[in-house]
Amino acid sequence: MAAEGLRPERGAAGPGGGTRADGRPRGDLRAYPEIRADRAPWTLMYHSVDAYQEDPYQVTVTPERFVRQMEWLRRSGLRGVALGELLRAHALGRAAGLVGLTFDDGYADLYHQVLPVLERYGFTATAFVVAGRLGGHNDWDSGPRKRLLDREQIRRLADRGVEIGSHGLEHRLLPGLPAEELALEAGRSREQLEDLLERRVSGFCYPYGAVDAAAAAAVRDSGYRYAAAIAHSPLTGRFALPRSFVGERDDGWRLRAKQVRHRLRGLRVRSDEESAR
Ligand SMILES: [Zn+2]
Repeated sequence: MAAEGLRPERGAAGPGGGTRADGRPRGDLRAYPEIRADRAPWTLMYHSVDAYQEDPYQVTVTPERFVRQMEWLRRSGLRGVALGELLRAHALGRAAGLVGLTFDDGYADLYHQVLPVLERYGFTATAFVVAGRLGGHNDWDSGPRKRLLDREQIRRLADRGVEIGSHGLEHRLLPGLPAEELALEAGRSREQLEDLLERRVSGFCYPYGAVDAAAAAAVRDSGYRYAAAIAHSPLTGRFALPRSFVGERDDGWRLRAKQVRHRLRGLRVRSDEESAR
């Protein structure tokens, strides 16, 4: 199976796995061990939170709905946290009661609409920003133009506890790209964000949720500690974490159904892995 090389427990080395010259495990491997598909913690995927007229790609949730969704999490005994924090808690067996909150593309409304709500609830989140488009617009798709976070807003978000991850340099579809372009999208974007933030960037998010074994290996080899995908697949694990899409129609009942579906899909991937052995 193509996923084999991505699993440190099966002997793959690289920045996320293996041992150091002194024979001890790499620090980041201990911080983020491999994640079994049936144990992947539940993570929500948002894009934009704003009022809107049209939303052909369903990337926008209104601020009113967003508050109701955060309220539902709180009443359900769940605290929204950044994905990096969720994975550290998971590694320590302390992820019960936590749910990952992620925001793809880095829309400027994250600063104005999302951050005040997160702070009111005592939640955090991860923003996956497109490193080559900071301060620009979402010109990779044909829908309504939306402003993206600029450099100063990203720095301030990080200072206020929002984890900043990379969503690539140009929001390109990674599967099928030559190795050197994969390395640029993953590695160069990370360097640019680390220069901006003066801190380590640990998380990557595949544009369009599209991941194959080569893309996941490029992300791992670029020094990330984890990567977010969308769907469950044979690659599901630390470098292809599944997430549940959240949209404007998602009330508490639908969110609960998505939580159950996340669990069932993880169990199915795990049972496929076991029967393939
Ligand atoms: Zn995106």
